[in-house]
Amino acid sequence: MKAVVIEKPFQATIVDCVTPSIAPNQVLVRVGAVGICASDVEVYEGTRPADYVRYPCQPGHEWAGTVAAVGSEVAHLKLGDRVAVEGHHFCGKCYFCQRGQTNLCQHYNEFGFTLPGAYADYVAVRADLAHPFAPDLPFEVAALTEPAACAGHGLLRAGVQSGDTVAVIGPGTIGLLGVAWAKALGAGRIIAAGVDRNNESFARAVGATDYVTLAEGADTQVKAMTEGRGADVVFESAGNPQAVLLAFDLVRRGGTVVQVGIAGGDHTIRLSPDLACLKDLRLHGVFAYTSAVFVETLRRIENGVLNVRPLITHRLPLTQFAAGLALLKHKPEPVVKTVLMVND
Ligand SMILES: [Zn+2]
Ligand SMILES: [Zn+2]
Repeated sequence: MKAVVIEKPFQATIVDCVTPSIAPNQVLVRVGAVGICASDVEVYEGTRPADYVRYPCQPGHEWAGTVAAVGSEVAHLKLGDRVAVEGHHFCGKCYFCQRGQTNLCQHYNEFGFTLPGAYADYVAVRADLAHPFAPDLPFEVAALTEPAACAGHGLLRAGVQSGDTVAVIGPGTIGLLGVAWAKALGAGRIIAAGVDRNNESFARAVGATDYVTLAEGADTQVKAMTEGRGADVVFESAGNPQAVLLAFDLVRRGGTVVQVGIAGGDHTIRLSPDLACLKDLRLHGVFAYTSAVFVETLRRIENGVLNVRPLITHRLPLTQFAAGLALLKHKPEPVVKTVLMVND
């Protein structure tokens, strides 16, 4: 079979390799489509933290495909099932897994980073990580379950109520998926806030009712739209210190901040020690998604309530993976999610 292998940073090729064999508790999945993620660019460029990647690396963690072989102990899947596969290969036994917090498993292992991923014809996966979906859902749409689950993990916990005002700071891929989730959860007003208007049309396509830029004064505009209160829920996905401060500014008293963005490095921010008390705030940090949220995300994509389709901007064959990575890195044209079509 063919697979993309990143031997070491900046050295990626398509190689011929042996199709993996499966253990009794595994299925072999013929890859249909795999999304290109910013973290794939990190793996390619060698900027991902060393604990979260192992070279040589076969990337690909946002994907879906068809069951092509079934291990002898597997009961819930059969040949030909179309499945979306969780990224995290959690252990199921540790303190966190036992409590359903599979995203925090003490034994980090993830397809596409430390395990062979889906930039390939076939991947062998533990069967409980593969979740079947309806035959009429295209592979490239089902492949968005993984990134959409990251946004869903935060907004489901925020308890968005019907009619709520949700502000999304940083309308990149995860932010736009946050907009789609806010819409799916019944938010009344969804305000996307970005540094520029590049992604405005995508934000509106997945449910944003308003779009503001930081230069225009996102805080005054959001306050003006909410009779001075601020947003019920703020979803921060920009990943920089200013965005975190803005999130605490935009949220109303008694509201909820969801923080998904990773600012990185050793930035610090200054917050009033009384902020959370005086505003009666809830803060949810989001690290990936749990197994339960992944399945809930797949169900909502399947039934169309969670509309992620407008975010697929490019479809490329696997052979053009390098062009796909470059597209995401340099954005010479509007790009949200590029999907590599593998065996579709
Ligand atoms: Zn990703
Ligand atoms: Zn575990």
